Amino acid sequence: MNLPERKGFLPLQNEKLRNVAIIAHVDHGKTTLVDQMLKQGGVYRENQAVVDRVMDSGDLERERGITILAKNTAVHYKGYKINIVDTPGHADFSGEVERILKMVDGVLLLVDAAEGPMPQTRFVLQKALELGHKVIVVVNKIDRPDARIHEVMDEVLELLLDLDATPEQLDSPMLFCSGRNGTASYSPDEPGTDLKPLFDTILNYIPAPEADVDQPFQMLVSSIDYNEFVGRIAIGRIERGTIHANQEIAVCNYHDPDAAPRKAKAVSMYQFEGLQRVPVQEATAGNIIAMSGIGDVTIGDTICAAGAVEPCLLY
Ligand code: GDP
Repeated sequence: MNLPERKGFLPLQNEKLRNVAIIAHVDHGKTTLVDQMLKQGGVYRENQAVVDRVMDSGDLERERGITILAKNTAVHYKGYKINIVDTPGHADFSGEVERILKMVDGVLLLVDAAEGPMPQTRFVLQKALELGHKVIVVVNKIDRPDARIHEVMDEVLELLLDLDATPEQLDSPMLFCSGRNGTASYSPDEPGTDLKPLFDTILNYIPAPEADVDQPFQMLVSSIDYNEFVGRIAIGRIERGTIHANQEIAVCNYHDPDAAPRKAKAVSMYQFEGLQRVPVQEATAGNIIAMSGIGDVTIGDTICAAGAVEPCLLY
């Protein structure tokens, strides 16, 4: 397999890691496709019921009546781990969209083969393009009797042009999927037989995360989850360094950069496996992790190694 060319720091273990986000209009089939990826990707076991609507739950979300949280899933394929991050369906929270997209190195733009691209996904796609992310276009639901695949391909290209995509982004790979049937194809005119083309394109086209493991630990909090047992859970991609369970950390407040960083401890850390979070003792740069133990953590905070406080001033 030809791995994409890249510069910068690439920890060895990240060669087998891909971080991608899905951009999709509601009902274009994101949940169904991710469920199929889980089934075909090896993590899913027959005796483990796939929870329906993987990416659509979230109490905080429901409370606020709007999708603002990233939901993370991880699938395995050929020894690679693919972290899949959901993006908000609404575009009102610019900073939050950017923080979520900062976790990944590429996006899947999922478009219904009958409906075509919808204006609501424009904003998130624009942010992804501005960040220079690689794009894989997934024309989905090609099994629909009213699918108009070739027109939708043109509409996606027009949209990319309109959003000032780079020549490389305009030349993004396009795949033709039926999430419902669990198929992907490189050709608009022939249905596939499984999702292999989609997995292979993610592995080949999206670069592995670059990150410097030798620097002190730093992580930008891209989203927050909540669990009644452990309280608030900070989710983000480790920008650099390594963190160990129970390590002393310092939390820089995004809303009050002049405030002294709060001392805390990384009480528990998790990585994503399938639909679950699995506890880990150590995590390194490039990975997306969840961390509990910081009571008042908020989106945009930077978590640093104690003694190496340096907030992410990304936005
Ligand atoms: P989401 O809102 O993007 O997560 O979309 P869902 O995965 O929940 O799918 C929305 C609707 O489209 C559901 O009724 C699905 O059964 C249907 N659907 C999903 N994938 C496909 C597909 O590949 N083909 C067809 N024909 N329908 C699909």
